[in-house]
Amino acid sequence: MYNEDNLIQISSLQHYAFCTRQCALIHIEQVWSENVFTAEGRIMHDKADSNKSESRGKVRIDYSVPLRSLRLGLIGKADVVEFHRQESGAWLPFPVEYKRGKPKAGNCDRVQLCAQAICLEEMLNVEIKEGALFYGQTRRREDVVFNNALRQETEETAKKVHELIESGITPKAEYSKKCDSCSLLSLCMPKTCGKAKSASRYLLAAMRDE
Ligand code: SF4
Repeated sequence: MYNEDNLIQISSLQHYAFCTRQCALIHIEQVWSENVFTAEGRIMHDKADSNKSESRGKVRIDYSVPLRSLRLGLIGKADVVEFHRQESGAWLPFPVEYKRGKPKAGNCDRVQLCAQAICLEEMLNVEIKEGALFYGQTRRREDVVFNNALRQETEETAKKVHELIESGITPKAEYSKKCDSCSLLSLCMPKTCGKAKSASRYLLAAMRDE
């Protein structure tokens, strides 16, 4: 169990699942850079971040819902939580996360959504089977089932992010295709880092007269 003083942001799980260095740059070094991708994403989030509630038949929709899990040491907000009215009369939460762009190859968005569900389960003492991701570019909603594999991946990611932040060590940059859509590309400079490393290896070798 964690306490109020050592909670990490739910979004850090998405950053970690995308790139461990990106997670460290944002959550250890407090680096942030807005690019066209994050600007569009922020506008989408702002629309969801209106802190209001509305009802549509058997669905109630709450916006910008505060979340916390002491079991996983998480804190943050859900863009949208739908509450679906059950036959029993109870309202079952269904988290919805808004994303710029289109579905990604990896599981990073699903991990973030599952972390939101785990927070809601702990806060409301319910079991949540599903949620959804909404992608702005495709205007499509993808339902996500919180199965055991995704829950395990989410819990392991939370543990690794806690360890990363506690270590205070930012991993070295390694260029890959995902870097091209990374908000920190110009600050991280993964291609230059590789060259700088080669250059420093060359200089060290020259000093040793190899
Ligand atoms: S530019 Fe690449 S290596 Fe650097 S933080 Fe982004 S994804 Fe990670």
